Amino acid sequence: MTSRIALVTGGTGGIGTAICQGLAKSGHRVATNYRHEGKAKTWQAEQKALGYDFTIVPGDVSDAQSAAEMIKAVEASLGPVDILINNAGITRDTTFHRMTALQWQEVINTNLNSCFNVTRAVIEGMRNRGFGRVIQISSINGQKGQYGQANYAAAKAGMHGFTISLAQENAKFGITVNTVSPGYVATDMVMAVPEEVRAKIVQQIPTGRLGKPEEIAYAVGFLVDERAAWITGANLSINGGHYMGW
Ligand code: NDP
Repeated sequence: MTSRIALVTGGTGGIGTAICQGLAKSGHRVATNYRHEGKAKTWQAEQKALGYDFTIVPGDVSDAQSAAEMIKAVEASLGPVDILINNAGITRDTTFHRMTALQWQEVINTNLNSCFNVTRAVIEGMRNRGFGRVIQISSINGQKGQYGQANYAAAKAGMHGFTISLAQENAKFGITVNTVSPGYVATDMVMAVPEEVRAKIVQQIPTGRLGKPEEIAYAVGFLVDERAAWITGANLSINGGHYMGW
């Protein structure tokens, strides 16, 4: 297996940390970004204690200039990015008739415009080198919609439109582009949902439990593998059977 350079945006979060660890265990050199230095240092020290040596650079993926500087910093310390996981994301939940323009824009900028900002800065290099893996971490709610999440569902569905177009444009260059759509996974994002709402969600999941971050990381590891070279433009649902559509 070739050891590659991977960038996982939002790598300090619940799913991101598991993806960073999974890629490192597969022998890749892994970088991520931070927005708050204190939190980043604590995370990096915790990971070091577990035996992981991650590169962590400043970067706000919702801002094109910051994203470009983040890529430059990763390339300066590790080299060109071969594997990109667009994972950073936020929610600003409320019903649409109450939603502010700011709540809409923050979610679209962080979840969807980030895919342009970060991928645009690495795709040319991947095409020139004839290899690349780009994965968007979307959501079950981009597939089925969700009450109180018009902004998030729009951004997450948009990520898959981005995936299937980019997959077509770059297939000839050894680059695969795929979407992973997790269901409800036990991270800070989901644990912030009131307990009674969470209990109702779990009742709707055929496997009867929330997902684990490492179950999402496993799918990412599968898609970045060299043997997955013929899987492109796919949307992989990982949701315990919660939604079985496209
Ligand atoms: P977390 O809230 O645990 O982590 C989110 C990560 O994204 C953090 O590292 C956060 O960094 C980073 N981030 C947020 N905004 C920005 C920004 N503007 N620039 C750079 N980094 C940013 O979330 P999860 O791990 O649960 O989610 C990861 C992805 O999976 C998200 O895209 C989410 O939408 C998606 N997902 C999650 C599901 C779940 O059940 N948990 C279900 C379906 C999809 P910081 O510490 O600076 O805020």
